[in-house]
Amino acid sequence: MHIVVCIKQVPSAIAVKVDAATQALTCTGSDYLINPFDENALEAALALKDSLKAKVTVLTVGSAQTAEVLREALGRGADAAQLLSDAAFEGSDAWATSKILAAAVQKLGDVNLVICGKQTFDGDTAQVGPGIAEFLGWPCVAFVRKIESDGASLKLERIYEEGFEKLTLALPAVLTVGKEINTPRMASLKGRMAAKKAQLAPVTAAALGLAPETVGAKGSRTRLARMAPVPRKSGGIKVDGSDPAVAAKLVVDKLREMKLV
Ligand SMILES: Cc1cc2nc3c(=O)[nH]c(=O)nc-3n(C[C@H](O)[C@H](O)[C@H](O)COP(=O)(O)OP(=O)(O)OC[C@H]3O[C@@H](n4cnc5c(N)ncnc54)[C@H](O)[C@@H]3O)c2cc1C
Repeated sequence: MHIVVCIKQVPSAIAVKVDAATQALTCTGSDYLINPFDENALEAALALKDSLKAKVTVLTVGSAQTAEVLREALGRGADAAQLLSDAAFEGSDAWATSKILAAAVQKLGDVNLVICGKQTFDGDTAQVGPGIAEFLGWPCVAFVRKIESDGASLKLERIYEEGFEKLTLALPAVLTVGKEINTPRMASLKGRMAAKKAQLAPVTAAALGLAPETVGAKGSRTRLARMAPVPRKSGGIKVDGSDPAVAAKLVVDKLREMKLV
């Protein structure tokens, strides 16, 4: 079985700001991490590799800097990694990002299963996993919390609002997973050392057979109108609770003033 894991590099939340001029997120000086749910996606693939002798390839769409998350995945036990990087990819929305990842899966040729995180820390759209499935014409099961496989099909548990569902799914397919599914392993020292030497030459739009105008800003279906940080919450109002009747009246008056009751 050949499993592809899609991982995105995300900034550690503390240092993210919105650039007023460009409306883009600026992350200068912050640390970068593997998107947390993508660590679970990688762990799910590595667990299948342990039980089925599967091959695991990790893919990321990003700049040269995102090679670091690929090295981390290689250190944890992935067999191969591809950095999908090209000036033509800049400005890609979730639709175009899905298209690039699907093209890379198609180019690999022998992929049976794609596992994504359920959503990212920054973009947070949860569209890319289902988007890849749509471009590939494969079924997609989102929010998976358990995967078992005999190599030919999958037995899954999928979380939904009221509980969970048990499903059987034929391959090829795309899954998205969250933190409930597993606890990600750490990279071994040996793995880390080997990953440092990995050659991660960028895989370009041309190499994937994608015309530049079908990806990036030109190929995207969404246009960003405005982005703004969530306003900071004020300190609130402390109510002296020593006289419950007075305190209750104060709270009700305040709610009325704010037109909340
Ligand atoms: C108009 C517009 C312009 C944009 N321009 C840029 C830009 O120039 N540069 C930029 O970095 N972002 C840009 N973005 C953001 C970019 O589109 C998203 O980061 C990307 O589509 C992923 O969406 P998401 O973060 O919501 O992922 P989700 O859909 O929440 O992610 C779900 C899962 O998909 C996989 N996944 C998501 N993104 C990637 C990835 N990059 N590589 C591998 N796997 C992935 C992961 O497994 C992830 O857990 C732009 C967005 C818009 C709307």
